[in-house]
Amino acid sequence: MAFTDLGLRPEILNALTVLGYVEPSPIQSAVIPVALQGHDVLAAAQTGTGKTAGFALPIIEKLAPQASTSTSPARHPIRALILAPTRELAIQVEESIKAYCKYVPLRSLCVYGGVNIDTQIPVLKNGVEILVATPGRLLDHVQNKTLSLSQVSMLVLDEADRMLDMGFMPDLKRIIGLLPEKRQNLMFSATFPQEIESLARSFLKNPQRIEVARRNATAENVTQILHPVHHEKKRALLIHLIRSRELKQVLVFTGTKLGANRLAHEINKAGIHAAAIHGDKTQQERIKALDEFKSGEVGILVATDVAARGLDISALPYVVNFDLPHNPEDYVHRIGRTGRAGASGEAISLMTEDEARYLKDIEKLIGKTIDQILVPGYSPGAAQVPDYRPPAAPAIARPVPVNAPSRRPVKQVAALFRMPAAAKE
Ligand code: AMP
Repeated sequence: MAFTDLGLRPEILNALTVLGYVEPSPIQSAVIPVALQGHDVLAAAQTGTGKTAGFALPIIEKLAPQASTSTSPARHPIRALILAPTRELAIQVEESIKAYCKYVPLRSLCVYGGVNIDTQIPVLKNGVEILVATPGRLLDHVQNKTLSLSQVSMLVLDEADRMLDMGFMPDLKRIIGLLPEKRQNLMFSATFPQEIESLARSFLKNPQRIEVARRNATAENVTQILHPVHHEKKRALLIHLIRSRELKQVLVFTGTKLGANRLAHEINKAGIHAAAIHGDKTQQERIKALDEFKSGEVGILVATDVAARGLDISALPYVVNFDLPHNPEDYVHRIGRTGRAGASGEAISLMTEDEARYLKDIEKLIGKTIDQILVPGYSPGAAQVPDYRPPAAPAIARPVPVNAPSRRPVKQVAALFRMPAAAKE
């Protein structure tokens, strides 16, 4: 299918050409025609699938007839509301919308917490048709009467499962209650726990369910490996892997904000430029870290799940689970950061003995076992565990698979790999 078959006006098609989009992604081919017909949509899609254009393009197409170059705020009421769980995702969604609206005079704005609300008010007063918001800040504006939702005809819940995880359910229900009855709803979620199903039932009207193959969970272009590691040697192992394999553009996940800070600090101490991104960082700090990571200035970005949600970092070569996620769905979200758009990627997990209990659920969810590879000197039973030392020579710890191992006890798997002589610790 081509973008020209989807029923989008030339102004939108031209903007897509400028962006270099050649053909629609599967989620776009599925969602756009259905949304243009006016149906409610319940779509299963992760970040990286192109879901943003999946909802943004129908919104722009449907609102385009009302687009106006008038300066009167009355000509620019909020007609589409997009709710996203995090500031980063909200910003990215709105940036995409601005790009898609290059040739359509629709106004958009992003409002999110953590920044001075006063700067958002004058822009809202001037009028915007497409508002992207995090739930809390939207309610602040509602409370302050600095915006009106009375003309909203399209609602999008983006990453609904994340909003639920982050405790936004009461806010969402309140917001939905403030919207006009007659509207179109589009809901996107990567996973469908019970609460998401019941939220969907409560506010979607005869939704068309759209599902595209779950990317990356089983994607062949993502290699998944796991290193069992001694709990005192996790940081040293990570630094060792980064050094010896010369890993760059690595997104490292930790379970806690404190853990993210500590780890970024340790990596920096080892002379590798790393930044941490998590909920306690200011908006400016997060944007700076993300920009530096994208530009390559910072090679290692350490993030918590919440902070990483929705980050648009495409075709990332490496994702590291420094801490194994307790929730198996987070594993899928995390590794979804790599191997995008046909590029190959690698997901590396470090697992201490304590964390072994989380592995079964992860493997059950992804439907396969993850190859386990011991790195000499760092494994749980390592007699002599080395501290990190800057390597003199390239100490390659990259094991070379001789065979594609299936599930085997760790010791046997280790025996299947040749360790280069230089791997001596
Ligand atoms: P998303 O899943 O919406 O966050 O999109 C992931 C990335 O894919 C973003 O950088 C988009 O700009 C890009 N993208 C979305 N749709 C297409 C497309 N049809 N062709 C090429 N790139 C796309």
